[in-house]
Amino acid sequence: MTLTGAEDADVVIVGARLAGTATAVPLARAGRKVILLDRTSFPSDQLSTHVLVPSGVSELQRMGALPHILKLGPAQARYLGVTVGDIRLRERFATVDGIDYGVCVPRYDQDVCLVTACREAGADVREKSVFEDVLWENGRAVGVRYRHNGRKYEIRARLVVGADGRQSRTAAAVGAWTPYRGSKNGRGFAFRYMDDPALDTIHHEIYGIYRSGPRIVLTLPSSPRGRLLVVFMTPADDIPRFQQGGERFWQEAVAEEPEVAERISGAQNVSQLRSTRKLASYYRRSSGPGWALAGDSGHFKDPVAGQGQRDALRHGRLLGEAVNAVLDDPAALDRALCAWEKNRDDDTRSSYHWGNRESRPDAPSALIREVLRTFGDRGEGRPDFSDTFNRTRKVEHVIGPSRMVRGLVRALAAPGADRRGILREVAGEIPTELAIRWETRFGGFRYDGWAPSERPGWSVGEPPRPRTAEAEAVPQPAP
Ligand SMILES: Cc1cc2nc3c(=O)[nH]c(=O)nc-3n(C[C@H](O)[C@H](O)[C@H](O)COP(=O)(O)OP(=O)(O)OC[C@H]3O[C@@H](n4cnc5c(N)ncnc54)[C@H](O)[C@@H]3O)c2cc1C
Repeated sequence: MTLTGAEDADVVIVGARLAGTATAVPLARAGRKVILLDRTSFPSDQLSTHVLVPSGVSELQRMGALPHILKLGPAQARYLGVTVGDIRLRERFATVDGIDYGVCVPRYDQDVCLVTACREAGADVREKSVFEDVLWENGRAVGVRYRHNGRKYEIRARLVVGADGRQSRTAAAVGAWTPYRGSKNGRGFAFRYMDDPALDTIHHEIYGIYRSGPRIVLTLPSSPRGRLLVVFMTPADDIPRFQQGGERFWQEAVAEEPEVAERISGAQNVSQLRSTRKLASYYRRSSGPGWALAGDSGHFKDPVAGQGQRDALRHGRLLGEAVNAVLDDPAALDRALCAWEKNRDDDTRSSYHWGNRESRPDAPSALIREVLRTFGDRGEGRPDFSDTFNRTRKVEHVIGPSRMVRGLVRALAAPGADRRGILREVAGEIPTELAIRWETRFGGFRYDGWAPSERPGWSVGEPPRPRTAEAEAVPQPAP
């Protein structure tokens, strides 16, 4: 790779994982000159549990990464299994674009496949290249300054895309660091890889969700085939205990979940335990004159819903597709960016609220259990509840008013029911349901500040410190 001091591109993208590569591929395929900068070099790991259901895998297929992923030999999960006490659901995932399975490939392996597909499409991915600042002209983003091997360089471009994750320096540079709304997570994540003792059984095709007390536990057939990712989505206050108590606390936590203990009985650990509690969800302003923020840099939802990768891929692709025809017309480009952002919000809002609600560290209530029980009604094995994860229907349509009423009637009618408690819970949920439907019907999501699913006290921390243009001289292009 020959770098000059300053060069031109159609689009420059900061970050070369899900959002960045997905944005780049349609543009590069259309013949646009696209440069991606990433401070890391691939393969490279990322703190994430990386489950994708068919709607996410279909995005891998569209961008040309799926053949590379399949070469890794991942388990292909065709079912969702839910175990809540005596309730057991098992559904096949709905097929999306011909894909009827999910994959769960560690980021170290997955992301290098994305970069490979991106390069095959014709984009220029530059590793160990650290974005420092946006270049501006008359209030418009016109390029970036970055550092590589201790030297500084500039790229001028019609569009600057920040796809640099939650700690987005691009968001800080365009003045969008502070989210306009967000929610405090009630759960943290603790996870590790194990060898799956159920390798040659149907269980190695099932994404398992277990809920008894306040924890949600996932068993996710992973990659290579035979590996299992076991995730505790546990009250955030548990995380320091996982971190300090390590192995002993893990063993105790497994013992408290009998169905999980049975599922992983005999499994050998093949990795260290990893954990985090820094998971506040948020929306940042994500478009402006000559710039856009894709993936986590613009919006992060609680990973309890497992939707971040799918959204980063899908809305990255939609961004690339939306701007290709208008890159040469600044006014039309800015309109397209604004419309893209609105569409992203419309598509992600439902999962955002769902993630906020599922992040509450509560045990499943009698009402939730009875609502869950209604999911067998459409026939054993058919997609229904799993549509929430697969995004084939919005959460508020899958768990709509008629299902809620059926669950409520069953919960109230159960022998020994705490009817007052159940009605109090319903009264608490109604404002959230109404707010979601109001937002959907009348808009009014952006900048409105608060919805009842959102927990106060959230923070995304301080923005990365700015690096000024004057800090170091920028080399000029060779004559
Ligand atoms: C604990 C946890 C569990 C999760 N589990 C799931 C799950 O099961 N399923 C799911 O779908 N989603 C999950 N997510 C969410 C998912 O990980 C993210 O939504 C996804 O990684 C977003 O991709 P991205 O491309 O926007 O950003 P990232 O993956 O964060 O990539 C950003 C890239 O930008 C680069 N970068 C940053 N700063 C600079 C700079 N200054 N210069 C150059 N490059 C830079 C970084 O090196 C990185 O490669 C989880 C997240 C967490 C934290």
